[in-house]
Amino acid sequence: MDAADAGADSFATRRTVDGTTYLQRLLSAGLLISTGVDGLYGRSEMFEDVVERVSDLIGDWGAEKEVEVIRFPPVMSRQVLEESGYWSNFPDQLGAVFSFHGDERRHQRLLKCLDKQEDWTEDVHPTKIVLTPVACYPVYPVMAARGRLPESGRLVDIFSYCCRHEPSSEPERMLMFRQREFVRMGTAAQVLAFREDWIEHAEAMMRLLQLPASIGVANDAFFGRGGKILADSQREQHLKFELLVPGINPYKVTACGSFNYHLDRFSSLWKIYTDSGEIAHTGCCGFGLERVALSLFKHHGLNTAHWPRGVRTVLWGNDHA
Ligand code: ZN
Repeated sequence: MDAADAGADSFATRRTVDGTTYLQRLLSAGLLISTGVDGLYGRSEMFEDVVERVSDLIGDWGAEKEVEVIRFPPVMSRQVLEESGYWSNFPDQLGAVFSFHGDERRHQRLLKCLDKQEDWTEDVHPTKIVLTPVACYPVYPVMAARGRLPESGRLVDIFSYCCRHEPSSEPERMLMFRQREFVRMGTAAQVLAFREDWIEHAEAMMRLLQLPASIGVANDAFFGRGGKILADSQREQHLKFELLVPGINPYKVTACGSFNYHLDRFSSLWKIYTDSGEIAHTGCCGFGLERVALSLFKHHGLNTAHWPRGVRTVLWGNDHA
């Protein structure tokens, strides 16, 4: 997925008929575990099982294809992120890793500040890593370093925890969540065909999971006044489509997946060329795994044992249905 979906309205008090919010029900069922920080949760075994099964289901799409599986840790090079333009577009969402850089004297000062509950951050500075905001960002420079793409382009299967700093009491707006995604690099035609195929496949997958879903044109939540122009242009050019599922939030649909065509934005930035030496095009199709899980628990109930047989078969196979 590219970045945060648009529309960050906060409805902290939305409630169901029995007076509880969906988040409260998830917490009291033990599916999510509070850490005391809005948007940061532990996951129960059952929740985790669903996330893993959904991820496997998404990954099955690549089974018969020439696909390279790459996994990165949930932090990435700060320099790569700086060069990607993320600071321009989403400065408010970024999570950076800071570390202490002082000597013993400064360390004593830091401890005293902590004791007195005063500002202790003077000797704490940014490191070379930031939390990965978008699962596919680390992939592009790696692919560029390999030289020209093969004639068939490249297809990469990625999975990562991602961080978006948008604390919220809406369960679908987590600070740390996972994306399972496929990235395509090649000619414009190859990338567009990949995206078409994924949109159809995602709709079929939602039918199998018995989730109501639709596909809509979308834009990223670019920051600031200039961001509005970027967002309008993205919509006009149909660069981003989202898989929208109702139910998690009573006031709006939730984007559980996105299908992005980057034109040559990342290829120009990182110098990715096709086998004939043209600048390549790229695209990515990915899912927010927690959001798909939250949709399943919302529509089929908080205990997977009671989910419809068809849905259980899709996720766990016949033996456990
Ligand atoms: Zn992506």
